[in-house]
Amino acid sequence: EEEKKKRGGRLFEMPEIRFTKLFINGCFVDAASGRTFETRDPRTGDVIATVAEADKDDVDSAVRAARDAFDHGEWPRMSGSERGRIMARFADLVEQHADELAALESLDAGKHPAITKAVDIGNAAGSLRYFAGAADKIHGETLKMQAQFQGYTLREPLGVAGIIIPWNFPSTMFAIKVAPALAAGCAMVVKPAEQTPLSALFFAQLAKRAGVPDGVVNVVPGFGPTAGAALASHMDVDMVTFTGSTEVGRLIMKASAESNLKPVYLELGGKSPLIIFDDADVDMAVELAVSANFFNKGEACVAASRVYVQEGMYSRFEEKLAERMKSWVVGDPFSDARANQGPQVDKAQYERVLSYIDHGKREGATLLTGGGRPAACGHKGYYIEPTVFTNVTEDMVIAKEEIFGPVMCLIKFKTVEEAIWRANDSRYGLGAGVVTRDVDVANRVVRSVRAGVVWVNCYFAMGSDCPFGGRKMSGFGKDEGMHALDKYLAIKSVVTPLRASPW
Ligand code: ADP
Repeated sequence: EEEKKKRGGRLFEMPEIRFTKLFINGCFVDAASGRTFETRDPRTGDVIATVAEADKDDVDSAVRAARDAFDHGEWPRMSGSERGRIMARFADLVEQHADELAALESLDAGKHPAITKAVDIGNAAGSLRYFAGAADKIHGETLKMQAQFQGYTLREPLGVAGIIIPWNFPSTMFAIKVAPALAAGCAMVVKPAEQTPLSALFFAQLAKRAGVPDGVVNVVPGFGPTAGAALASHMDVDMVTFTGSTEVGRLIMKASAESNLKPVYLELGGKSPLIIFDDADVDMAVELAVSANFFNKGEACVAASRVYVQEGMYSRFEEKLAERMKSWVVGDPFSDARANQGPQVDKAQYERVLSYIDHGKREGATLLTGGGRPAACGHKGYYIEPTVFTNVTEDMVIAKEEIFGPVMCLIKFKTVEEAIWRANDSRYGLGAGVVTRDVDVANRVVRSVRAGVVWVNCYFAMGSDCPFGGRKMSGFGKDEGMHALDKYLAIKSVVTPLRASPW
């Protein structure tokens, strides 16, 4: 309370905004055009900072810097253990600045600083540390081949990586893509989302302080159709890794196809099912459904927005869920200690989510809780009530499309087969959850569901060593885990004759 008084009624220190320019070749610079854009506080809609706005010319400069660092610089040429040492220092610096980073991220994205520190910044540091340890363990294989030859493979850094990230977990997204790229020995240009450009700029200067050479990590805040598109279609970018919407993922692939055919990796939308069986503990099932839908205000690609509940548990589940939501608080995460859920990231997302909620009402789904703006939050800020629809059928738009907000759809099912069939009846295939005490049922779901990750009696649990990425229209390619390195490496086969002249 004392601390809170000192902060003028706030629970957390407001961050100072120190880095608002483009980070190119180790320096903060203005955009070539001199243009800037505003980043806003989702709690109020007020401007937090004006940030340099990169366009094609700036992306060109950043790619040139990265190209030069890759073609002539020391980063791809130094030993893996030395790269690992620098990356571990980078992870240390992230941990040392965790409070400041968490506050900055929370202000920019409408998050809760304490949770952001533990989850977003914790994962970012964890990923840097994990791949720091991987940097000296990248090696190829020996090949026996035919009688007169032998061969081996080299796994070489691919070159300049283009990294385009979204606004829902900006710090974690930055790190889970930058860390394996650094470990592989690549240089990179990062385009953060226009809604949340601040943390990536903070990370960039920490990378420099840790000893990452200039030009290896460049950050170009700006808009998608300008800066993002310039990066995706650049002839001198060797690969692109993207996390964001399925629509934009398609544009990124097109940009690659129409430029230099760079490999593209996409982590896209989802409509992930959580399947709850009759034998589950109802309280645990409710808790899982709540966090799987309302954590980070539902702004999570892997949110379990289709909750399938078996018929014997359905009405009990509904009752307990309605009860549970009474103690779920939406509010300003900086000043309300009870707040479980902050504001949506910006006005556009706020309006989009509200229009989906209206759509659900019109389609004939029943509102169990929520359904609009919370009265207690006044008129300012992009707050939305956690909303649960029941009597949802799969032909409804709210059951098919990704809403990316605090909206849960409850659907009743009868048998295991039916649950599996319905869970798979989606264009997406990112995550899935199963809640049951029956190991056989859990295993059947695990084996049958088409998803990149399946959680059994838990949800959202992730880790640096746990590959993450989807199937179907949720994209392809893995972030995190050792497989993530492959995206940033090229395999070169080398063949030598066993005798001087086999011919
Ligand atoms: P969301 O719908 O969740 O806002 P987007 O897919 O629009 O996600 O955005 C994710 C990232 O992709 C952001 O950094 C955004 O600026 C970028 N982006 C948007 N449009 C394009 C585009 N045409 N080309 C490249 N990047 C883009």
